[in-house]
Amino acid sequence: MQERRNEAAIPAGPTFSVVVPVFNEGEGLLEFHARLARVMRGLGAPWEVVYVNDGSRDASLTVLEGLRAEDPACAIVNLSRNFGKEIAMTAGLDHARGAAVVVIDADLQDPPEVIPELVAGWRGGFDVVYAQRRQRAGESWLKRTTADLFYRLMQSVGRVKLPRDTGDFRLMSRRAVDALMQLREHHRFMKGLFAWVGFPTLAVAYDRAPRFAGRTSFNYWKLWNLAIEGITSFTTMPLKLASYLGLLTAAVALVYGGNIVVRALLFGNPVPGYPSLMTVILFLGGAQLVTLGVMGEYLGRIFNETKGRPLYFVERFTPSRPMVPPDPFPPPGEPVASPARVP
Ligand code: UDP
Ligand code: MG
Repeated sequence: MQERRNEAAIPAGPTFSVVVPVFNEGEGLLEFHARLARVMRGLGAPWEVVYVNDGSRDASLTVLEGLRAEDPACAIVNLSRNFGKEIAMTAGLDHARGAAVVVIDADLQDPPEVIPELVAGWRGGFDVVYAQRRQRAGESWLKRTTADLFYRLMQSVGRVKLPRDTGDFRLMSRRAVDALMQLREHHRFMKGLFAWVGFPTLAVAYDRAPRFAGRTSFNYWKLWNLAIEGITSFTTMPLKLASYLGLLTAAVALVYGGNIVVRALLFGNPVPGYPSLMTVILFLGGAQLVTLGVMGEYLGRIFNETKGRPLYFVERFTPSRPMVPPDPFPPPGEPVASPARVP
């Protein structure tokens, strides 16, 4: 918990915080901010957007600083290096002060225009309002099928029910965010953590757009690793499978062994074939190595967690300047002030 912000030093927050992880998104950020700001201004409540620069290697940080100079609703958390999206999101949530917090991607695949619907759900009393994809435009058949398989697998083995076709695009109430922030594990499978926290939850359907600019930083290897992260973070099923595999092999070996003994007694003892011997040795060797690998996956995670390192380091944090809402009862005779920002 030591890397969390100092609560006392931060003044009361706005109604809405929008957390945006940014990694090499320089090309699309201006368009993103323009669309987001239009939507947020329409909500008629104080808001801020927390951009987390996750060690971008392009001009993202310069673009963000330009945005901050023009729009004081921007906060910038500049991480000390690239930590990955899951940790970037966590850093953003740590620095968000809103009564409701929206998490959204910077590449405009999650349309900011959906936010008012999420807000409507929150105003209706839900703590978590997540956006669920109606269709996946611009994604390959392979990605859709593998994603589908993964959700099925998680639903059937995990104790936590992961909502299907749901990314990180969601709104969370302050108490849901505070709950989530207590989960400081290093292997952060955010979709699972969101679900683990619980609270009244609502789904809002939306159409996922293709990327506006740049390219995805996720490839199949990363997705595979994310899937392993999801499985090992939320279920010990693979360990159980390993024991069942062992039991099954032992049972088969017993039957096969009995068979050999009986045949040797009945028909004498011709030397049994080399191929069957080889098959058995190779199968057992393979099963043992797989089991060791599964145990290794869990052991490695225990190793990483026990080091107890902070989740990330912030190179620089530029807070947003909170907006002072206009006084609803101005003294008579004075002109009605337009919303102003405190310096
Ligand atoms: N992202 C990040 N750190 C990373 C990779 C990605 O902060 O190491 C951000 C990225 O800028 C974007 C979001 O995470 O806002 C989703 O990334 P991307 O579009 O590459 O993933 P996809 O939409 O293909 O799942
Ligand atoms: Mg994307």
